Amino acid sequence: LEPVPSDIAIALAQKPKPIKYIAEELGLLPNELELYGQYKSKVSLDVLERLSHRKNGRYVVVTGITPTPLGEGKSTTAVGLVQALGAHLNKIAFGCVRQPSQGPTFGIKGGAAGGGYSQVIPMDEFNLHLTGDIHAVTAANNLLAAAIDARMFHEKTQSDKALFSRLCPTKKGKRVFAPVMLGRLERLGINKTDPADLTPDEVSKFARLDIDPATITWQRVMDTNDRFLRKIEIGRNDTEAGHERMTGFDIAVASEVMAVLALSTDLKDMRERLGKMVVASSRGGDPVTADDIGIGGALTVLMKDAIKPNMMQTLEGTPMFVHAGPFANIAHGNSSIIADRIALKLAGVEDGEGEDKMGYVVTEAGFGADIGMEKFFDIKCRTSGLIPDCAVLVATVKALKMHGGGPDVTPGKPLPEVYNTENLELLEAGCGNLKKHIENAKKFGVPVVVAINRFTSDSDAEMALIRRIALEAGADDAVACDNWAKGGLGAVDLGQAVIQSCSKPTHFKYLYNVEDDIETKITTIAREMYGADGIELSDLAKEKIATYTRQGFGNLPICMAKTHLSLSHDPTKKGVPTGFVTPIRDIRASVGAGFLYPLCGAMQTMPGLPTRPAFYDVDIDFETGQVKGLF
Ligand code: ADP
Repeated sequence: LEPVPSDIAIALAQKPKPIKYIAEELGLLPNELELYGQYKSKVSLDVLERLSHRKNGRYVVVTGITPTPLGEGKSTTAVGLVQALGAHLNKIAFGCVRQPSQGPTFGIKGGAAGGGYSQVIPMDEFNLHLTGDIHAVTAANNLLAAAIDARMFHEKTQSDKALFSRLCPTKKGKRVFAPVMLGRLERLGINKTDPADLTPDEVSKFARLDIDPATITWQRVMDTNDRFLRKIEIGRNDTEAGHERMTGFDIAVASEVMAVLALSTDLKDMRERLGKMVVASSRGGDPVTADDIGIGGALTVLMKDAIKPNMMQTLEGTPMFVHAGPFANIAHGNSSIIADRIALKLAGVEDGEGEDKMGYVVTEAGFGADIGMEKFFDIKCRTSGLIPDCAVLVATVKALKMHGGGPDVTPGKPLPEVYNTENLELLEAGCGNLKKHIENAKKFGVPVVVAINRFTSDSDAEMALIRRIALEAGADDAVACDNWAKGGLGAVDLGQAVIQSCSKPTHFKYLYNVEDDIETKITTIAREMYGADGIELSDLAKEKIATYTRQGFGNLPICMAKTHLSLSHDPTKKGVPTGFVTPIRDIRASVGAGFLYPLCGAMQTMPGLPTRPAFYDVDIDFETGQVKGLF
């Protein structure tokens, strides 16, 4: 239709297929599905075992150039590509995307189900509760938060002996250690299994975590943009007098539990990661973990359904996994490893089947390629061991003109005229940003296809110019995509380019050696990805490097928390900034998720609501029961 109707109007006009039919077409067994209504289903991890003999399908990551604040259509292109491959090019094709947070949905950005004729449906369910995974993350995170404060409370009010006898109560006349505590004994070097054998000194060491309140990094979370919870004082009731402390809330998707969900490879691995999460240091300087608090098992139980990926569909009835939604700055911003693994098996081939039967898994990495793609390769692929076959780099005329010196693009304000009229000079001036991202992607040894996401005002000459420059810069292919306006049909050329590129041999390699010291790893990312001359560590960052190295976390991969609006740390520097040094203000650890995250600037982990939030438009249509005005 022209003009293209609103996202919600398009989404509501298409009746989804019952998800069990899509599952059946993919060869999923009825007992591998857990239906949530008719159009959503969780998929059991048992599929991995049943199809373990299969060769994986092709693995494609969708990333983008440095965006404007409006987004350049990575989700839209990822969904369009899956539609093209699955509904027009006769391939099995899966899309894997993150679950959006409710915060931005009701705040500024709106939903994240793609756009136009390339969307995930039902889009209201996609953007709201889905199957409750974010609620499970919230519950797990907050149980741990409550446990930390309760434990400090009890330690302050009880003697060593009293604490110990409560932590190890008598069962049938004998004290026993709960299994979760055996790891703590091991970490303390106490080689005893019978509580009765502990010396008074060991009793004290075991019973007292002795958490230094100043070092607690664990915050409470909720999935609402509530700026007034950024900093709060807790413990104000009389019953907790003397135990007050300052803390705060983050948005649920910024929690480490969400990053763990995204990076776990199976349930056992998730259990280990949840137990290993470090929440504070003791006064003696040792890390205090979730398992030290005795809670790793309970957290896993709260997350046992959330670990199963959620299957939905595109507007054209091809399958999508929507699973996990970690932040892209303080976390790695990629959907789950488990969804990708299951999809790769479902899209894979049996022994003896040829390349023509090979299916495709298209997974999206958040933010621009300097952040999301780098983390996809260096954190997600390193953790999963999966080897990508191709990277799709989404570019738009609008963003490239901005990099060439065009005026600022502000959400909610009309686009300046230069973005709606052909201007080849401005466009060419901005293509350096595209070239840099192509070079960056090539450093990982995978083929790169540039997808030029076409807006109605873009001209053919502008498309041709971007294509020429992309090919000169070493892209394996560059094609214009019309899938926002035309659905999968508009991305058939992209689909064909991806199929071609996936058949090329890859020489995939990580950017850095994880065994290198922390400073070297950060320097490599800053130099190679951002084009920095080097890095500058604050005193605090230097201190943290010493602490993490001593605590044995020095060999974790690095998850840079940097703005996505520039290749540098300064969001106002467009194009390809040079002659700068990347400042590292602080470094924090997500030990359970498995990365260290250096902060290049102040990072907001609890957004606020704008004066005129997106929720103003949202209501229910009483006649049809449908959601109105979501976007
Ligand atoms: P990203 O994933 O890069 O943040 P999205 O795919 O969410 O970007 O797209 C951002 C917004 O732009 C969405 O509202 C989407 O509907 C819109 N959009 C994307 N591509 C186009 C296009 N070609 N024409 C018009 N609007 C588009």
